[in-house]
Amino acid sequence: MMVNTGTTVFCADIGGSFIKFGISRRQGEVDELAKVATPTDSWNDFVAALQQLLADHQQEQPEDTPLAISTAGLVSPQSGEVMASNIPGFAGHNMAAELTHLLARKVSIANDADCFALAEAHVGEGQGLPIVVGLILGTGVGGGIIINGQLLRGHGGVTGEWGHGAITRTELLLDNRLIQLPRLLCGCGKTGCLDMYGGARGIERLHQQLHQQKADSHQIIQEWQDDEPQAAQTLQAWLLLVSEPLALLINIIGPSKVVVGGGLASVTPLITALDQQVRTATLHSYPQPLIVPGRFVDHGGLVGASVLGRLR
Ligand SMILES: [Zn+2]
Repeated sequence: MMVNTGTTVFCADIGGSFIKFGISRRQGEVDELAKVATPTDSWNDFVAALQQLLADHQQEQPEDTPLAISTAGLVSPQSGEVMASNIPGFAGHNMAAELTHLLARKVSIANDADCFALAEAHVGEGQGLPIVVGLILGTGVGGGIIINGQLLRGHGGVTGEWGHGAITRTELLLDNRLIQLPRLLCGCGKTGCLDMYGGARGIERLHQQLHQQKADSHQIIQEWQDDEPQAAQTLQAWLLLVSEPLALLINIIGPSKVVVGGGLASVTPLITALDQQVRTATLHSYPQPLIVPGRFVDHGGLVGASVLGRLR
């Protein structure tokens, strides 16, 4: 892998609410230094916020210390534009190129799922493996793909976004009851996306569809672990809906490991159940667990950015 492990790198993790800012002096380690509100509507205010963070923490570091950024949204490798629905101020800007000029240092950028995948492939559960999929099971579904240590940046920046394809089935047989599931209109504009059923909000939608009950995903998962019958059906449906597209992704990519981040990754029994279900559906037979919780479920953005900033 082409990695410059010695360089000090400033790191930023940009979400719709906050910018987390840190410094990495060694590969895999980030000291978080500050957390400020994200200026979402104004590009100039966003640049000023980064300038202030760098000025506050530059101290003894060289003036050209690189900045690596993990961001919400998709990063187009063609235009450099970051398309983040919750940060409209980014629209129309070639972010890495403009920031490199404005901040007078090398600035590299990747989306947060891609940064999580980089973190896991370099210093986490996929360390040293040739093909690693970083899978996000959070409020929705996302992912990134790392091949021989390098982030796969495909057309439009959508590589790894396996959640925005149609679900493989709309009929489920659960405990001898045939369930019809609607193909729902997704936030991306398409109809039928797995994203609508695949994450924590998806578990809640499924529960509503199957049992006409509103419940929080944490509560449903807890009831599933307690063998409550309705929650058991909901999670059975969720495992079926998620495992088939995931097996397809695995057949196409051939990962050595699929490392999970996002809120659902911390529910170990759920990831274990998903792993077992998926391994019955993949073409290759994986004798060991393939889908595992990540090491950087909570701070993959900053750690991944630190890895990104060292890639050559
Ligand atoms: Zn979609």
